[in-house]
Amino acid sequence: MDLNSPLKQFFGFNSFRPCQEDIIRFILNRQDVLAVLPTGSGKSLCYQLPALLSEGTAIVVSPLIALMQDQVQQLRELGIQAAFLNSSLSSGEKFQIMSNCQQYKLLYVSPERLLDESFLQFLSGIPISFFVIDEAHCISAWGHSFRPEYRKLSSLKKLFPTKPIMALTATATPDVQNDIMMQLSIPKHQFIKSSFERENLSIKISPRLSGNRQILEFCKARPDQSGIIYASTRKKVDQLTELLHSEGFSVGKYHAGLPDADRSRIQESFVRDKTQIIVATLAFGMGINKSNVRFVLHYDLPKNMEQYYQEIGRAGRDSLAADCLLLYSQGDIIIQKRFIDEIPDQAIALHLKRKTEQLLAFCNSANCRTKDILGYFGEFYNKENCSHCDNCTELTDTIDGTEISQKIVSGVYRVGQRFGLNYVIDTLIGSKNNKILQFGHDSLSTYGLLSNFSRKELIHFMYALINEGYLYVTDDQFPIVKLTKKSWPISAIKNINFKRLPETTKAIKKKSTPEQILNHNPDLYTKLKRLRKEIADKQNIPAFMVFHDSTLVDLSEKAPKTTSDLLLINGIGPKKIHAYGEEILRCIVTD
Ligand code: ADP
Ligand code: MG
Repeated sequence: MDLNSPLKQFFGFNSFRPCQEDIIRFILNRQDVLAVLPTGSGKSLCYQLPALLSEGTAIVVSPLIALMQDQVQQLRELGIQAAFLNSSLSSGEKFQIMSNCQQYKLLYVSPERLLDESFLQFLSGIPISFFVIDEAHCISAWGHSFRPEYRKLSSLKKLFPTKPIMALTATATPDVQNDIMMQLSIPKHQFIKSSFERENLSIKISPRLSGNRQILEFCKARPDQSGIIYASTRKKVDQLTELLHSEGFSVGKYHAGLPDADRSRIQESFVRDKTQIIVATLAFGMGINKSNVRFVLHYDLPKNMEQYYQEIGRAGRDSLAADCLLLYSQGDIIIQKRFIDEIPDQAIALHLKRKTEQLLAFCNSANCRTKDILGYFGEFYNKENCSHCDNCTELTDTIDGTEISQKIVSGVYRVGQRFGLNYVIDTLIGSKNNKILQFGHDSLSTYGLLSNFSRKELIHFMYALINEGYLYVTDDQFPIVKLTKKSWPISAIKNINFKRLPETTKAIKKKSTPEQILNHNPDLYTKLKRLRKEIADKQNIPAFMVFHDSTLVDLSEKAPKTTSDLLLINGIGPKKIHAYGEEILRCIVTD
Protein backbone atom coordinates (compact mmCIF):
# COMPACT_ATOMS: atom_id res chain seq x y z
CA MET A 1 0.00 0.00 0.00
CA ASP A 2 1.35 3.38 -0.99
CA LEU A 3 1.49 5.60 2.06
CA ASN A 4 3.09 8.63 0.47
CA SER A 5 -0.05 9.86 -1.23
CA PRO A 6 -2.21 9.82 1.91
CA LEU A 7 0.68 11.53 3.73
CA LYS A 8 0.57 14.38 1.20
CA GLN A 9 -3.19 14.27 0.92
CA PHE A 10 -3.98 14.61 4.62
CA PHE A 11 -0.92 16.24 6.12
CA GLY A 12 0.76 17.98 3.22
CA PHE A 13 4.16 16.41 3.92
CA ASN A 14 6.37 15.29 1.06
CA SER A 15 8.10 12.43 2.83
CA PHE A 16 8.12 10.38 6.00
CA ARG A 17 10.60 10.99 8.76
CA PRO A 18 12.77 8.04 9.84
CA CYS A 19 10.79 5.06 11.18
CA GLN A 20 7.35 6.59 10.71
CA GLU A 21 6.46 4.37 7.79
CA ASP A 22 7.60 1.15 9.50
CA ILE A 23 5.58 1.95 12.60
CA ILE A 24 2.50 2.72 10.54
CA ARG A 25 2.81 -0.58 8.65
CA PHE A 26 2.80 -2.57 11.89
CA ILE A 27 -0.52 -1.12 12.92
CA LEU A 28 -2.00 -1.44 9.41
CA ASN A 29 -1.04 -5.12 9.57
CA ARG A 30 -3.03 -5.29 12.80
CA GLN A 31 0.05 -5.90 14.95
CA ASP A 32 0.98 -4.26 18.25
CA VAL A 33 4.04 -2.07 18.22
CA LEU A 34 6.18 -0.14 20.66
CA ALA A 35 7.90 2.82 19.04
CA VAL A 36 10.64 4.77 20.75
CA LEU A 37 11.47 8.01 18.98
CA PRO A 38 12.98 11.19 20.35
CA THR A 39 10.83 14.18 21.18
CA GLY A 40 9.89 16.15 18.10
CA SER A 41 10.42 13.30 15.69
CA GLY A 42 6.77 13.05 14.71
CA LYS A 43 5.23 10.26 16.76
CA SER A 44 1.67 11.59 16.51
CA LEU A 45 1.62 11.13 12.77
CA CYS A 46 2.39 7.43 13.29
CA TYR A 47 -1.12 6.83 14.61
CA GLN A 48 -2.95 9.71 12.97
CA LEU A 49 -2.28 8.50 9.45
CA PRO A 50 -3.29 4.84 9.99
CA ALA A 51 -6.36 6.04 11.92
CA LEU A 52 -7.48 7.78 8.73
CA LEU A 53 -6.85 4.67 6.67
CA SER A 54 -8.66 2.27 9.02
CA GLU A 55 -12.27 1.46 9.69
CA GLY A 56 -13.60 2.75 12.99
CA THR A 57 -12.25 5.11 15.63
CA ALA A 58 -8.73 5.05 17.06
CA ILE A 59 -8.71 5.48 20.83
CA VAL A 60 -5.73 7.53 21.95
CA VAL A 61 -4.72 7.53 25.61
CA SER A 62 -2.89 10.69 26.52
CA PRO A 63 -1.81 11.86 29.97
CA LEU A 64 -2.46 15.57 29.72
CA ILE A 65 -5.52 17.63 28.95
CA ALA A 66 -3.50 20.36 27.24
CA LEU A 67 -1.88 17.78 25.02
CA MET A 68 -5.20 16.36 23.88
CA GLN A 69 -6.72 19.74 23.14
CA ASP A 70 -3.71 20.74 21.17
CA GLN A 71 -3.72 17.63 19.05
CA VAL A 72 -7.41 17.82 18.35
CA GLN A 73 -7.14 21.47 17.35
CA GLN A 74 -4.34 20.65 14.94
CA LEU A 75 -6.24 17.75 13.42
CA ARG A 76 -9.30 19.88 12.90
CA GLU A 77 -7.14 22.49 11.24
CA LEU A 78 -6.23 19.73 8.79
CA GLY A 79 -9.89 18.92 8.29
CA ILE A 80 -9.70 15.66 10.23
CA GLN A 81 -12.53 14.60 12.52
CA ALA A 82 -11.22 14.21 16.05
CA ALA A 83 -12.38 14.83 19.59
CA PHE A 84 -11.29 14.47 23.19
CA LEU A 85 -13.03 13.41 26.35
CA ASN A 86 -11.70 14.74 29.61
CA SER A 87 -12.63 16.54 32.79
CA SER A 88 -12.56 19.93 31.08
CA LEU A 89 -15.87 19.12 29.35
CA SER A 90 -19.37 19.38 30.77
CA SER A 91 -21.40 16.19 30.93
CA GLY A 92 -23.57 17.54 28.12
CA GLU A 93 -20.53 17.97 25.88
CA LYS A 94 -19.29 14.50 26.77
CA PHE A 95 -22.64 12.98 25.94
CA GLN A 96 -22.67 14.82 22.61
CA ILE A 97 -19.23 13.48 21.68
CA MET A 98 -20.03 9.93 22.74
CA SER A 99 -23.26 9.87 20.75
CA ASN A 100 -21.46 11.11 17.64
CA CYS A 101 -18.46 8.93 18.26
CA GLN A 102 -18.63 7.08 14.95
CA GLN A 103 -17.86 10.23 13.00
CA TYR A 104 -14.47 10.65 14.69
CA LYS A 105 -11.38 8.97 13.31
CA LEU A 106 -9.53 9.72 16.54
CA LEU A 107 -10.83 9.99 20.08
CA TYR A 108 -8.42 11.16 22.80
CA VAL A 109 -9.09 10.06 26.36
CA SER A 110 -7.33 10.10 29.71
CA PRO A 111 -6.26 6.74 31.18
CA GLU A 112 -8.70 7.10 34.09
CA ARG A 113 -11.59 7.54 31.72
CA LEU A 114 -10.60 4.68 29.47
CA LEU A 115 -10.67 2.19 32.31
CA ASP A 116 -13.88 3.48 33.79
CA GLU A 117 -16.46 0.63 33.81
CA SER A 118 -19.20 2.47 31.99
CA PHE A 119 -16.79 3.82 29.40
CA LEU A 120 -15.47 0.34 28.69
CA GLN A 121 -19.06 -0.70 28.22
CA PHE A 122 -19.51 2.11 25.74
CA LEU A 123 -16.33 1.20 23.86
CA SER A 124 -17.39 -2.40 23.45
CA GLY A 125 -20.36 -1.12 21.47
CA ILE A 126 -18.53 1.00 18.88
CA PRO A 127 -16.18 0.11 16.02
CA ILE A 128 -12.61 0.69 17.22
CA SER A 129 -9.69 0.64 14.79
CA PHE A 130 -6.88 0.39 17.35
CA PHE A 131 -5.58 1.74 20.63
CA VAL A 132 -2.72 4.20 21.09
CA ILE A 133 -0.89 4.76 24.33
CA ASP A 134 1.01 8.01 24.00
CA GLU A 135 3.76 8.85 26.53
CA ALA A 136 3.80 5.13 27.29
CA HIS A 137 6.74 5.45 29.72
CA CYS A 138 4.18 6.60 32.30
CA ILE A 139 3.27 2.91 32.56
CA SER A 140 6.67 1.98 33.93
CA ALA A 141 7.78 2.47 37.50
CA TRP A 142 11.31 2.75 36.08
CA GLY A 143 10.32 5.83 34.18
CA HIS A 144 10.75 9.30 35.55
CA SER A 145 7.05 10.08 35.41
CA PHE A 146 5.26 6.95 36.53
CA ARG A 147 1.47 7.33 36.67
CA PRO A 148 -0.38 4.67 38.65
CA GLU A 149 -3.50 4.91 36.48
CA TYR A 150 -1.35 4.07 33.44
CA ARG A 151 -0.33 0.81 35.08
CA LYS A 152 -3.87 -0.48 34.77
CA LEU A 153 -3.68 -0.17 31.01
CA SER A 154 -2.09 -3.60 31.06
CA SER A 155 -5.62 -5.01 31.16
CA LEU A 156 -6.34 -3.54 27.72
CA LYS A 157 -5.11 -6.60 25.84
CA LYS A 158 -7.44 -8.87 27.81
CA LEU A 159 -10.40 -6.59 27.36
CA PHE A 160 -9.88 -6.07 23.61
CA PRO A 161 -7.82 -9.03 22.40
CA THR A 162 -8.38 -8.29 18.71
CA LYS A 163 -7.47 -4.61 18.76
CA PRO A 164 -3.84 -3.74 18.05
CA ILE A 165 -2.06 -1.41 20.45
CA MET A 166 0.51 1.21 19.50
CA ALA A 167 2.65 2.41 22.40
CA LEU A 168 4.76 5.54 21.94
CA THR A 169 7.46 7.08 24.05
CA ALA A 170 10.56 9.21 23.86
CA THR A 171 12.11 7.56 26.90
CA ALA A 172 14.88 5.41 25.61
CA THR A 173 16.23 3.49 28.58
CA PRO A 174 16.05 -0.28 28.01
CA ASP A 175 14.52 -0.93 31.47
CA VAL A 176 11.56 1.24 30.63
CA GLN A 177 11.15 -0.28 27.18
CA ASN A 178 11.12 -3.82 28.48
CA ASP A 179 8.67 -2.89 31.17
CA ILE A 180 6.27 -1.30 28.65
CA MET A 181 6.42 -4.38 26.43
CA MET A 182 5.78 -6.67 29.36
CA GLN A 183 2.89 -4.62 30.74
CA LEU A 184 1.16 -4.42 27.38
CA SER A 185 2.15 -7.93 26.22
CA ILE A 186 3.84 -6.61 23.08
CA PRO A 187 6.10 -9.28 21.53
CA LYS A 188 9.84 -8.54 21.50
CA HIS A 189 10.24 -8.14 17.77
CA GLN A 190 7.36 -5.64 17.46
CA PHE A 191 9.61 -2.86 18.52
CA ILE A 192 10.97 0.10 16.61
CA LYS A 193 13.52 2.52 17.88
CA SER A 194 15.04 5.31 15.86
CA SER A 195 18.36 6.91 16.49
CA PHE A 196 18.14 9.48 19.22
CA GLU A 197 20.46 11.85 17.47
CA ARG A 198 18.90 15.22 16.77
CA GLU A 199 21.17 16.64 14.13
CA ASN A 200 19.56 20.04 14.12
CA LEU A 201 20.28 20.71 17.79
CA SER A 202 23.63 22.26 18.50
CA ILE A 203 24.61 21.25 21.99
CA LYS A 204 26.86 23.32 24.18
CA ILE A 205 27.65 22.92 27.86
CA SER A 206 29.67 25.53 29.75
CA PRO A 207 30.63 26.29 33.31
CA ARG A 208 28.45 29.04 34.74
CA LEU A 209 30.92 31.77 35.51
CA SER A 210 28.59 34.72 35.72
CA GLY A 211 25.20 33.29 34.96
CA ASN A 212 23.25 36.50 34.41
CA ARG A 213 25.75 37.86 31.95
CA GLN A 214 25.93 34.59 30.06
CA ILE A 215 22.15 34.43 29.79
CA LEU A 216 21.83 38.03 28.61
CA GLU A 217 24.56 37.62 26.01
CA PHE A 218 22.94 34.48 24.71
CA CYS A 219 19.48 36.01 24.45
CA LYS A 220 20.72 39.29 22.97
CA ALA A 221 22.37 37.33 20.19
CA ARG A 222 18.97 35.85 19.35
CA PRO A 223 16.49 38.70 19.08
CA ASP A 224 12.95 37.58 18.24
CA GLN A 225 13.74 33.90 18.60
CA SER A 226 11.44 31.78 20.71
CA GLY A 227 13.21 30.09 23.59
CA ILE A 228 12.83 28.36 26.93
CA ILE A 229 15.12 28.94 29.89
CA TYR A 230 15.04 26.29 32.59
CA ALA A 231 16.12 26.80 36.18
CA SER A 232 15.85 24.42 39.14
CA THR A 233 14.17 26.67 41.66
CA ARG A 234 11.20 29.00 41.59
CA LYS A 235 13.29 31.71 43.14
CA LYS A 236 15.77 31.57 40.29
CA VAL A 237 12.92 31.58 37.79
CA ASP A 238 11.61 34.79 39.38
CA GLN A 239 15.04 36.42 39.31
CA LEU A 240 15.81 35.54 35.72
CA THR A 241 12.39 36.68 34.54
CA GLU A 242 12.98 39.98 36.31
CA LEU A 243 16.43 40.31 34.76
CA LEU A 244 15.27 39.67 31.20
CA HIS A 245 12.26 41.89 31.69
CA SER A 246 14.43 44.77 32.85
CA GLU A 247 16.53 44.35 29.72
CA GLY A 248 13.45 44.75 27.57
CA PHE A 249 12.82 41.16 26.56
CA SER A 250 9.36 39.80 26.01
CA VAL A 251 9.40 37.21 28.78
CA GLY A 252 7.03 35.20 30.95
CA LYS A 253 7.50 32.78 33.80
CA TYR A 254 6.07 29.39 34.58
CA HIS A 255 6.32 27.27 37.70
CA ALA A 256 4.14 25.08 39.87
CA GLY A 257 3.67 27.87 42.42
CA LEU A 258 1.64 30.05 40.05
CA PRO A 259 -2.16 29.83 39.74
CA ASP A 260 -3.43 27.56 36.95
CA ALA A 261 -4.97 30.48 35.11
CA ASP A 262 -1.65 32.37 34.98
CA ARG A 263 0.14 29.29 33.78
CA SER A 264 -2.23 28.55 30.93
CA ARG A 265 -2.25 32.21 29.93
CA ILE A 266 1.53 32.40 29.68
CA GLN A 267 1.80 29.07 27.94
CA GLU A 268 -0.79 30.18 25.40
CA SER A 269 0.97 33.47 24.83
CA PHE A 270 4.26 31.65 24.24
CA VAL A 271 2.77 29.13 21.83
CA ARG A 272 1.23 32.00 19.86
CA ASP A 273 4.53 33.85 19.58
CA LYS A 274 3.26 36.72 21.72
CA THR A 275 5.82 36.04 24.44
CA GLN A 276 9.32 35.41 23.17
CA ILE A 277 10.98 33.72 26.12
CA ILE A 278 9.66 31.53 28.91
CA VAL A 279 11.64 31.10 32.10
CA ALA A 280 10.46 27.94 33.83
CA THR A 281 11.05 25.12 36.21
CA LEU A 282 10.76 21.59 34.94
CA ALA A 283 7.01 21.87 35.39
CA PHE A 284 6.91 23.49 31.96
CA GLY A 285 6.92 21.83 28.62
CA MET A 286 5.30 18.43 28.79
CA GLY A 287 2.68 18.55 26.08
CA ILE A 288 3.85 21.85 24.69
CA ASN A 289 3.58 21.62 20.99
CA LYS A 290 5.46 24.52 19.52
CA SER A 291 7.56 23.72 16.54
CA ASN A 292 9.64 26.90 16.29
CA VAL A 293 11.43 26.91 19.65
CA ARG A 294 14.87 28.10 18.55
CA PHE A 295 16.73 27.68 21.84
CA VAL A 296 16.60 25.89 25.15
CA LEU A 297 18.89 27.25 27.81
CA HIS A 298 19.55 25.60 31.15
CA TYR A 299 20.62 28.00 33.86
CA ASP A 300 21.74 25.12 36.05
CA LEU A 301 22.07 21.36 36.16
CA PRO A 302 18.91 19.32 35.43
CA LYS A 303 18.12 16.26 37.57
CA ASN A 304 19.28 13.63 35.13
CA MET A 305 20.01 12.87 31.49
CA GLU A 306 16.40 11.91 30.78
CA GLN A 307 15.19 15.30 31.92
CA TYR A 308 17.95 17.15 30.08
CA TYR A 309 17.35 15.35 26.82
CA GLN A 310 13.62 15.73 27.03
CA GLU A 311 13.95 19.45 27.67
CA ILE A 312 16.38 20.20 24.88
CA GLY A 313 14.15 18.02 22.68
CA ARG A 314 11.57 20.80 22.78
CA ALA A 315 13.83 22.89 20.58
CA GLY A 316 13.75 22.69 16.79
CA ARG A 317 10.78 20.39 16.30
CA ASP A 318 10.45 21.82 12.80
CA SER A 319 13.90 20.28 12.17
CA LEU A 320 15.46 23.68 11.57
CA ALA A 321 18.54 24.61 13.58
CA ALA A 322 18.19 25.29 17.29
CA ASP A 323 20.69 26.04 20.06
CA CYS A 324 20.90 24.28 23.40
CA LEU A 325 23.14 25.73 26.06
CA LEU A 326 23.52 24.25 29.52
CA LEU A 327 25.27 26.31 32.19
CA TYR A 328 26.34 24.51 35.31
CA SER A 329 28.58 24.68 38.27
CA GLN A 330 30.01 21.88 40.33
CA GLY A 331 27.86 23.05 43.26
CA ASP A 332 24.55 22.62 41.39
CA ILE A 333 24.53 19.00 42.39
CA ILE A 334 23.83 20.08 45.95
CA ILE A 335 20.52 21.67 45.00
CA GLN A 336 19.56 18.55 43.09
CA LYS A 337 20.48 16.31 46.00
CA ARG A 338 18.43 18.44 48.32
CA PHE A 339 15.36 17.74 46.16
CA ILE A 340 16.22 14.06 46.17
CA ASP A 341 16.63 13.95 49.95
CA GLU A 342 12.91 14.63 50.25
CA ILE A 343 12.19 11.21 48.79
CA PRO A 344 11.42 8.76 51.60
CA ASP A 345 12.64 5.60 49.88
CA GLN A 346 16.39 5.44 50.43
CA ALA A 347 17.16 3.00 47.64
CA ILE A 348 15.33 5.15 45.11
CA ALA A 349 17.01 8.29 46.45
CA LEU A 350 20.42 6.71 46.01
CA HIS A 351 19.55 5.63 42.49
CA LEU A 352 18.48 9.19 41.67
CA LYS A 353 21.63 10.67 43.15
CA ARG A 354 23.74 8.44 40.96
CA LYS A 355 21.84 9.67 37.94
CA THR A 356 22.52 13.29 38.86
CA GLU A 357 26.19 12.53 39.35
CA GLN A 358 26.24 10.86 35.96
CA LEU A 359 24.81 13.98 34.39
CA LEU A 360 27.44 16.14 36.06
CA ALA A 361 30.18 13.86 34.77
CA PHE A 362 28.68 14.20 31.31
CA CYS A 363 28.82 18.00 31.61
CA ASN A 364 32.45 17.85 32.64
CA SER A 365 33.38 15.47 29.87
CA ALA A 366 35.35 16.41 26.77
CA ASN A 367 33.83 13.54 24.75
CA CYS A 368 31.42 14.02 21.89
CA ARG A 369 28.13 15.00 23.56
CA THR A 370 26.06 13.13 21.03
CA LYS A 371 28.05 9.97 21.64
CA ASP A 372 27.64 10.35 25.42
CA ILE A 373 23.92 11.05 25.28
CA LEU A 374 23.15 8.23 22.89
CA GLY A 375 25.42 5.91 24.87
CA TYR A 376 23.44 6.74 27.99
CA PHE A 377 20.28 5.61 26.22
CA GLY A 378 21.93 2.41 25.08
CA GLU A 379 22.62 3.47 21.51
CA PHE A 380 26.04 2.97 19.96
CA TYR A 381 27.10 6.02 17.96
CA ASN A 382 29.65 5.07 15.38
CA LYS A 383 30.73 8.50 14.16
CA GLU A 384 33.86 10.07 15.60
CA ASN A 385 32.64 13.60 15.31
CA CYS A 386 28.99 14.62 15.40
CA SER A 387 29.80 18.17 14.26
CA HIS A 388 26.91 19.64 16.24
CA CYS A 389 28.24 19.69 19.78
CA ASP A 390 30.75 22.00 21.44
CA ASN A 391 33.28 19.27 22.14
CA CYS A 392 33.38 18.22 18.50
CA THR A 393 33.53 21.70 17.05
CA GLU A 394 35.46 23.68 19.64
CA LEU A 395 37.94 21.24 21.12
CA THR A 396 40.12 20.36 18.21
CA ASP A 397 43.76 20.55 19.34
CA THR A 398 45.08 18.42 22.13
CA ILE A 399 48.12 19.14 24.29
CA ASP A 400 50.16 17.04 26.65
CA GLY A 401 48.52 17.74 29.99
CA THR A 402 50.82 15.82 32.31
CA GLU A 403 52.76 18.77 33.66
CA ILE A 404 49.71 21.02 33.86
CA SER A 405 47.86 18.31 35.77
CA GLN A 406 50.70 17.93 38.24
CA LYS A 407 50.70 21.67 38.77
CA ILE A 408 46.96 21.80 39.30
CA VAL A 409 46.98 18.90 41.76
CA SER A 410 49.88 20.53 43.64
CA GLY A 411 47.87 23.73 43.74
CA VAL A 412 44.98 21.88 45.39
CA TYR A 413 47.38 20.26 47.84
CA ARG A 414 49.19 23.50 48.71
CA VAL A 415 46.02 25.31 49.79
CA GLY A 416 45.43 22.41 52.16
CA GLN A 417 42.55 20.80 50.24
CA ARG A 418 40.32 23.28 51.98
CA PHE A 419 39.09 25.51 49.13
CA GLY A 420 36.76 25.47 46.16
CA LEU A 421 37.62 25.20 42.52
CA ASN A 422 37.61 28.92 41.76
CA TYR A 423 39.91 29.71 44.65
CA VAL A 424 42.46 27.13 43.57
CA ILE A 425 42.38 28.59 40.09
CA ASP A 426 42.87 32.09 41.50
CA THR A 427 46.06 30.97 43.19
CA LEU A 428 47.32 29.17 40.09
CA ILE A 429 46.68 32.21 37.93
CA GLY A 430 48.33 34.46 40.51
CA SER A 431 45.29 36.58 41.33
CA LYS A 432 45.75 39.35 43.86
CA ASN A 433 42.32 39.05 45.43
CA ASN A 434 41.88 39.85 49.11
CA LYS A 435 41.17 36.35 50.26
CA ILE A 436 44.43 35.08 48.80
CA LEU A 437 46.43 37.86 50.38
CA GLN A 438 44.64 37.32 53.70
CA PHE A 439 45.59 33.66 53.77
CA GLY A 440 49.09 34.49 52.59
CA HIS A 441 48.63 32.14 49.67
CA ASP A 442 50.52 34.53 47.40
CA SER A 443 53.67 33.08 48.87
CA LEU A 444 52.89 29.48 47.95
CA SER A 445 55.18 27.72 45.48
CA THR A 446 52.14 27.12 43.27
CA TYR A 447 51.07 30.77 43.21
CA GLY A 448 50.95 32.03 39.61
CA LEU A 449 52.33 28.72 38.34
CA LEU A 450 49.82 28.54 35.49
CA SER A 451 49.44 32.23 34.77
CA ASN A 452 50.01 31.56 31.07
CA PHE A 453 46.52 30.00 30.81
CA SER A 454 43.17 31.71 30.90
CA ARG A 455 40.76 31.11 33.75
CA LYS A 456 38.31 29.54 31.34
CA GLU A 457 40.89 27.07 30.15
CA LEU A 458 41.99 26.15 33.68
CA ILE A 459 38.39 25.49 34.66
CA HIS A 460 38.13 23.25 31.65
CA PHE A 461 41.33 21.37 32.66
CA MET A 462 40.16 20.99 36.24
CA TYR A 463 36.85 19.58 35.11
CA ALA A 464 38.73 17.12 32.95
CA LEU A 465 40.77 16.03 35.99
CA ILE A 466 37.62 15.66 38.07
CA ASN A 467 36.12 13.63 35.29
CA GLU A 468 39.14 11.37 35.09
CA GLY A 469 39.10 10.82 38.85
CA TYR A 470 42.27 12.73 39.74
CA LEU A 471 40.34 15.27 41.77
CA TYR A 472 36.97 15.27 43.41
CA VAL A 473 34.64 17.89 44.74
CA THR A 474 32.95 17.43 48.10
CA ASP A 475 29.25 17.31 48.60
CA ASP A 476 29.00 20.32 50.92
CA GLN A 477 27.28 23.63 50.78
CA PHE A 478 30.64 25.14 49.84
CA PRO A 479 32.20 22.40 47.73
CA ILE A 480 35.91 21.82 48.26
CA VAL A 481 38.35 20.29 45.79
CA LYS A 482 40.39 17.37 47.09
CA LEU A 483 42.94 14.86 45.88
CA THR A 484 42.11 11.22 45.26
CA LYS A 485 44.12 8.00 45.54
CA LYS A 486 44.81 8.29 41.86
CA SER A 487 46.52 11.67 42.23
CA TRP A 488 48.94 10.65 44.94
CA PRO A 489 51.93 10.73 44.70
CA ILE A 490 51.74 13.64 42.30
CA SER A 491 54.66 12.34 40.27
CA ALA A 492 52.53 9.31 39.38
CA ILE A 493 50.19 11.47 37.31
CA LYS A 494 51.12 10.67 33.72
CA ASN A 495 49.80 10.35 30.20
CA ILE A 496 47.10 12.95 30.32
CA ASN A 497 46.02 14.81 27.23
CA PHE A 498 43.87 17.87 27.32
CA LYS A 499 41.73 19.18 24.55
CA ARG A 500 42.41 22.87 24.07
CA LEU A 501 39.80 25.55 23.95
CA PRO A 502 40.09 27.64 20.81
CA GLU A 503 41.32 31.23 21.11
CA THR A 504 38.07 32.57 19.83
CA THR A 505 35.05 30.34 20.09
CA LYS A 506 34.24 29.15 16.61
CA ALA A 507 30.61 29.07 15.66
CA ILE A 508 29.22 25.59 15.73
CA LYS A 509 28.76 24.18 12.26
CA LYS A 510 25.10 23.59 11.99
CA LYS A 511 21.91 23.64 10.07
CA SER A 512 20.62 27.13 9.56
CA THR A 513 17.82 29.03 11.16
CA PRO A 514 14.97 30.12 8.87
CA GLU A 515 16.47 33.57 8.41
CA GLN A 516 19.87 32.12 7.45
CA ILE A 517 18.50 29.59 5.01
CA LEU A 518 16.91 32.30 2.98
CA ASN A 519 19.61 33.13 0.52
CA HIS A 520 17.03 34.78 -1.63
CA ASN A 521 13.69 36.40 -1.03
CA PRO A 522 14.01 37.45 2.61
CA ASP A 523 11.35 40.09 1.94
CA LEU A 524 8.89 37.51 0.74
CA TYR A 525 9.57 35.46 3.87
CA THR A 526 8.73 38.45 6.04
CA LYS A 527 5.56 39.07 4.04
CA LEU A 528 4.48 35.46 4.31
CA LYS A 529 5.16 35.49 8.00
CA ARG A 530 2.89 38.50 8.33
CA LEU A 531 0.19 36.76 6.31
CA ARG A 532 0.49 33.67 8.49
CA LYS A 533 0.07 35.76 11.60
CA GLU A 534 -3.08 37.41 10.20
CA ILE A 535 -4.57 34.03 9.36
CA ALA A 536 -3.65 32.58 12.75
CA ASP A 537 -5.07 35.54 14.67
CA LYS A 538 -8.28 35.47 12.67
CA GLN A 539 -8.78 31.81 13.55
CA ASN A 540 -7.42 32.19 17.04
CA ILE A 541 -4.81 29.44 16.65
CA PRO A 542 -1.01 29.48 16.96
CA ALA A 543 0.89 30.49 13.82
CA PHE A 544 2.72 27.17 13.44
CA MET A 545 -0.61 25.37 13.14
CA VAL A 546 -1.23 27.33 9.96
CA PHE A 547 2.24 26.64 8.52
CA HIS A 548 5.57 25.61 9.99
CA ASP A 549 8.52 27.97 9.59
CA SER A 550 10.09 25.38 7.30
CA THR A 551 7.06 25.63 5.01
CA LEU A 552 7.44 29.42 4.84
CA VAL A 553 11.12 28.99 3.99
CA ASP A 554 10.25 26.57 1.21
CA LEU A 555 7.59 28.95 -0.09
CA SER A 556 9.93 31.95 -0.16
CA GLU A 557 12.64 30.04 -1.94
CA LYS A 558 10.51 28.38 -4.60
CA ALA A 559 8.00 31.24 -4.91
CA PRO A 560 5.31 29.01 -6.50
CA LYS A 561 3.03 30.75 -8.99
CA THR A 562 0.28 28.16 -9.44
CA THR A 563 -1.77 25.82 -7.30
CA SER A 564 0.06 22.78 -8.65
CA ASP A 565 3.42 24.42 -7.81
CA LEU A 566 2.07 25.00 -4.32
CA LEU A 567 1.46 21.31 -3.90
CA LEU A 568 5.20 20.66 -4.21
CA ILE A 569 5.90 22.59 -1.03
CA ASN A 570 6.57 20.47 2.06
CA GLY A 571 3.77 21.05 4.55
CA ILE A 572 1.13 21.98 1.99
CA GLY A 573 -1.60 19.54 0.99
CA PRO A 574 -5.00 19.91 -0.67
CA LYS A 575 -6.64 21.07 2.53
CA LYS A 576 -4.20 23.95 3.05
CA ILE A 577 -4.42 24.92 -0.61
CA HIS A 578 -8.16 25.04 -0.34
CA ALA A 579 -8.02 27.15 2.80
CA TYR A 580 -5.11 29.50 2.08
CA GLY A 581 -3.87 28.82 -1.45
CA GLU A 582 -5.28 31.94 -3.00
CA GLU A 583 -4.00 34.26 -0.28
CA ILE A 584 -0.52 32.79 -0.54
CA LEU A 585 -0.34 33.02 -4.30
CA ARG A 586 -1.54 36.61 -4.16
CA CYS A 587 1.14 37.40 -1.61
CA ILE A 588 3.81 35.86 -3.84
CA VAL A 589 2.60 37.41 -7.09
CA THR A 590 2.47 40.92 -5.65
CA ASP A 591 5.95 40.55 -4.19
P1 ADP B 1 6.65 13.86 19.06
O1 ADP B 1 5.31 13.43 19.57
O2 ADP B 1 7.47 12.75 18.53
O3 ADP B 1 7.41 14.67 20.07
P2 ADP B 1 5.09 15.38 17.18
O4 ADP B 1 4.20 14.28 16.78
O5 ADP B 1 4.52 16.42 18.07
O6 ADP B 1 6.44 14.84 17.81
O7 ADP B 1 5.67 16.04 15.83
C1 ADP B 1 6.59 17.09 15.83
C2 ADP B 1 6.41 17.95 14.59
O8 ADP B 1 6.86 17.23 13.43
C3 ADP B 1 4.97 18.32 14.33
O9 ADP B 1 4.90 19.71 14.15
C4 ADP B 1 4.61 17.55 13.07
O10 ADP B 1 3.69 18.24 12.27
C5 ADP B 1 5.95 17.42 12.36
N1 ADP B 1 6.04 16.24 11.46
C6 ADP B 1 5.66 14.98 11.75
N2 ADP B 1 5.89 14.15 10.71
C7 ADP B 1 6.44 14.92 9.72
C8 ADP B 1 6.89 14.65 8.37
N3 ADP B 1 6.84 13.42 7.85
N4 ADP B 1 7.39 15.70 7.67
C9 ADP B 1 7.44 16.94 8.20
N5 ADP B 1 7.02 17.25 9.44
C10 ADP B 1 6.52 16.26 10.21
MG1 MG C 1 4.14 13.41 21.28
